[in-house]
This record gives sequence, C-alpha cells and structure tokens, in this order.
Amino acid sequence: MKKILIANRGEIAVRIIRACRELGIKSVAIYSQADAHSLHAKLADESICIGPAESKKSYLHIPAIIAAAEVSGADAIHPGYGFLSENAGFAEICRKCNITFIGPTPEQMRQLGEKVAARDVARKAGLPFLPGSKSAIESIDIAKKSAKEIGFPVILKASGGGGGRGMKIVHKDEDLEKAYFTCRQEAAAAFGNSEVYLEKYLENPRHVEIQIMADKHGNIVHLGERDCSVQRRHQKVIEEAPCNLLNEKERSRIGAYAVALAKEVGYHGAGTVEFLMDDDKNVYFMEMNTRIQVEHPVTEQITGIDLVRTQIQVAMGEALPFSQEDVKIKGHAIECRINAEDPKSFAPWPGKITAYSSPGGLGVRVDGFVYHGYTVVPYYDSMLTKLIVTADTRELAIKKMECALKEFIVDGIRTNIPFHLEVLKHPDFMQGKHSTRFLEKAGFVK
Ligand code: ADP
Repeated sequence: MKKILIANRGEIAVRIIRACRELGIKSVAIYSQADAHSLHAKLADESICIGPAESKKSYLHIPAIIAAAEVSGADAIHPGYGFLSENAGFAEICRKCNITFIGPTPEQMRQLGEKVAARDVARKAGLPFLPGSKSAIESIDIAKKSAKEIGFPVILKASGGGGGRGMKIVHKDEDLEKAYFTCRQEAAAAFGNSEVYLEKYLENPRHVEIQIMADKHGNIVHLGERDCSVQRRHQKVIEEAPCNLLNEKERSRIGAYAVALAKEVGYHGAGTVEFLMDDDKNVYFMEMNTRIQVEHPVTEQITGIDLVRTQIQVAMGEALPFSQEDVKIKGHAIECRINAEDPKSFAPWPGKITAYSSPGGLGVRVDGFVYHGYTVVPYYDSMLTKLIVTADTRELAIKKMECALKEFIVDGIRTNIPFHLEVLKHPDFMQGKHSTRFLEKAGFVK
C-alpha cells in the first residue's frame, strides 16, 4: 500500500493522515467546497475537491470519491467513521475497482450492520440479550404481544438506526401503537428501512463497549472496554477507559463475547461491540460498529496500541502485531468531545474562531482539525476537537481534564467546554455512579 485516500473530513481525516505519515504511506484528502480550509485538506500529501458542501454531493457521493481515488492513484480508501464507513455497497464498489477498503468485507458489514441481522449472528455466537422480540416486528399485534411478555418499559429500535436516532421508549400499553407506527415511518424516511424490533428498556444502565481488532489470518484480539455512559439523547459526550466498575475477570468475560461475535463472521479490521450493563454487571448485546469509532483514542491511551495504524496494517494483510496476552491496560483515559455549540441549549454555533490555543502537558492529547482564524461551517457535525487526557487513576484523570479544559481557548464561537466542566464536577460522575440517564437526571439536559 503506497497511497491511501481518506473518504472523510475533520478530525478523523487528520488522525488518519498522521497514521499514514508514520507508516510512510502517502495520503490523499478529499474535501467539499465548504471544507477548503479544513486542516485535513491542508495536511494531506494531495487534496482533491469532490463537490459542494452538501454531504450527499461530496462525502457521500461514491462516484466522485472513486474518481478521486483513480485520478490520484490511491490503492486504498480509509472511510473513517460516519459518512460511508458502514456502507457495504461502497466497500463492494471499492473491491470491484481494485481499491482496498480499510475495514471488513461487504459481506461482514451486511451481516453486522443492520441491527436485526446482527442480533441473529450474535444469538448464534452465544451473546447475552435483553428480553425482546427475536426478529423484526411485522405487525402491531405482534408488538403488543411481545411487549406484554417482556413487561413495560420497552424500547422500539429501528434496525437501520444509528447515532442515537430511531429509538422510542414506551412506558405503557396505550402508547405502544402510536410509537410503533411513528418509529416505522421515521425509520423508513431516515434509514430507508422500516424494520423495527423491541426489547426491554433498562432504566439505569451503563454503556460498555469492547474494542476488537482482527487480521485476515483469523487472529482476533479485544482491547478492553470503554464506558460511554455520559450521553445526551443517546449520543456520547464523554467517554472513558477502563470502566470504573469492572475488574480483570469481568473484562475478559465481556471481551470474550465480543471476540466470539467477530469469530462468527470471520471478521477482520477494527470493530466495536456495544453492550448495556445492569447494576449486577450483567451485560446485554446492543450492536456492533464495523469501523473505527470517535472514542478510539481512550483505548489507545491505556493500551499503547495505535488503532488506526493497526487498521492499515491488517488491511495490507499483515498479521496482528500483538496477541491477547500482550494487551495490558495501564492508567485511565477520558475523552471530552468539544463541539461548536451553545453550552446550555446545545444549539450548533458555527462561525469564525478569532483566538485558539489548545491545552498541553503530560497526558494531554488533542485530536482536532481547527485553528486560529478557521471558520466553522454549519454543514456537518459540530465536533471540533477531542480532548483526551491520561493519568494513573480515574480521579487524577478527571482533575487533569478539568485543568486542560480551563486552558483551552476557543474564541469567536461558543463551545461546550463550560458544560464539560460542570459535568466533571458532578458528584455522580466523580464517584463513577452515573448511568446513561445521568445528564438527564442531573438536570443538564431536558
Ligand atoms: P445507536 O446505533 O443509535 O448508537 P444503540 O443501540 O447503540 O443505538 O443505543 C444507543 C443508546 O441508547 C445506548 O447507549 C443507551 O443509552 C440507549 N439504549 C439502547 N437500548 C436500550 C435499552 N434496551 N435500555 C436502555 N437504554 C437503551
């Protein structure tokens, strides 16, 4: 592999460019007309404008991306996260064009991408589930019967859902019919797939996910867990590793589930298996993401393993450079997603950054793509930067994060830095007692 095209933008594109550089591989950035000043377009060895601001006409426009790869002579494409990263059709086209897709095969993506299909695979692999419908629910009568068996509250989920969208919590029988039809309609409109299923809704779970990495020779290793329980509208805001509630034995048990699932489909590449965990530390399979995730740095920080570099190596056919025994967890890492948004209303806040200075020091990592004088555009996700800190203990990491957030200067626009500072000092978070409903219960979000 000599040249990699990065089919993405922003911080993850910058992250991938760094990995390419270190491996001595040339990088090609693609950018929309709105992103000409994004750091990713400036840092890559080559940059190609592929269309207007609208994602559909640029970062999601497969013919333009393939043409950019062919024109630049790239022999591989890294999809990052979001955009086309979980699009099996795109992976298939790459294969047909003799371009290595840095990720699993289209077949593996199809088996694990849609939630209903993934649940079938996970069931075969022996993973634990919350009580719920076995497959997609075809009628309101079946939904009612299923909900009655499970007991309220239940959650309806769109098979094609993602990013916290496509879910409806139902507390009582009378509300089920409306929720069922709305969920189906919304799912059809948003994901082009009206399939929904239903499962028990856990009131105060933790979100625990396992990072896995697998090569094309059948080696699958898990790299421990991340706790992503600080969420707003089912979307992650702060992530950390390890989870403060788990010991080595429990970690191995959950890790083994993730490895079993990957094994079931002969998976290769990076992947994340997501679980909910109840008060008794029972875990339940939720879904698998077949790509690198936003929060991957916290795992890198405590394992010392470069996940993006490893993704590229396994895509080239190399064997995993580490075994399960080599993976050792050291210290504690926390990531805060720094977004261009109002810290109270969370309304997006694009605009020009008139002053910018990022924090530093031992154990402080900043993965971003903006700089002094950069204008944040309104067309994409509002995340600017990920601030990641690493320390010996969770307590020290929280303190370090607080110091780093206070050092961060981003003027001219609003960011959620003040929000993060408030969350960090909340007793439930400090004591590690928070569930996925923490932000709501503590009054940070309505
Ligand atoms: P997405 O694909 O949108 O990320 P997930 O299935 O990963 O959806 O769920 C996202 C979040 O939604 C979880 O982290 C959790 O907070 C909440 N959630 C999902 N299923 C349940 C459930 N059965 N009970 C309670 N919360 C749930």
